[in-house]
Amino acid sequence: MHVAEISFPFANNLEIDVVSDLVNRLLAVWRMNGQVCNREWPITIVGKTAIATALVPEAGSLEKEISNEYVKKAIAELLEKGGCSPEIKLKGEDIDSNETCSCTTIKSYILYTTYISLESSLRCGDCFCPIPLYKIPPTDGEEFYNLICWQSDYSSCDSLQMNCWTLERAATREMSLHDSSLSKQGLEVCRIITNSTNIPTYYYLYRNNGRSKNQELQRKCPSCGGEWLLEERLHCFDFKCDKCRLLSNIAWNVR
Ligand SMILES: [Zn+2]
Ligand SMILES: [Zn+2]
Repeated sequence: MHVAEISFPFANNLEIDVVSDLVNRLLAVWRMNGQVCNREWPITIVGKTAIATALVPEAGSLEKEISNEYVKKAIAELLEKGGCSPEIKLKGEDIDSNETCSCTTIKSYILYTTYISLESSLRCGDCFCPIPLYKIPPTDGEEFYNLICWQSDYSSCDSLQMNCWTLERAATREMSLHDSSLSKQGLEVCRIITNSTNIPTYYYLYRNNGRSKNQELQRKCPSCGGEWLLEERLHCFDFKCDKCRLLSNIAWNVR
């Protein structure tokens, strides 16, 4: 990901509230189109310019060609109300994020995120690097609303289980069971991506506690009951069911 400074020069008579509203609206639709990652974008005012700092998946993520209908509308509104076209300055690569996938052919996708990950949760099955969402057809109308909601919910559950205090068990269950509300939401997104791209999209089931390593190795796919132990570990996964497109790991406590 790159850190981008996005400047919005605006007319003298425009009130700060209106500027804030227009800028926030554009950033929100950029986010829903996968052009901006994360929902934190501090905005400062310098003279008659609002400056937002945001994370973008690639150097060219805010190019006009990637805009969807909502982005075009938000930019048109900004111009109409006295703003100017946003000016984008790249500050550099974010040091904490992974490189974007550069594979020439994608053979599979994995929907994967964690409590600290801010980047796209669409990962390449081969290199496991994130792929900007706008590289695939929208998963929800013109946008990626359902995918981004899943990412935000997953990240919240992962935070709760990491913090080990409030709703730890409930959050862990959501991430571990194939038929939890969170997993159904994620699997539905995977199904939509598989259908629109013709590329199999896998969903990860978190596994924290097991009785013993031996018992873990005997585990079957929780959805179809089939064998799914991999001969060789794939990224951080030990299990993979191609029929149900599920991935999992040997429980962390008995590894
Ligand atoms: Zn890749
Ligand atoms: Zn299965």
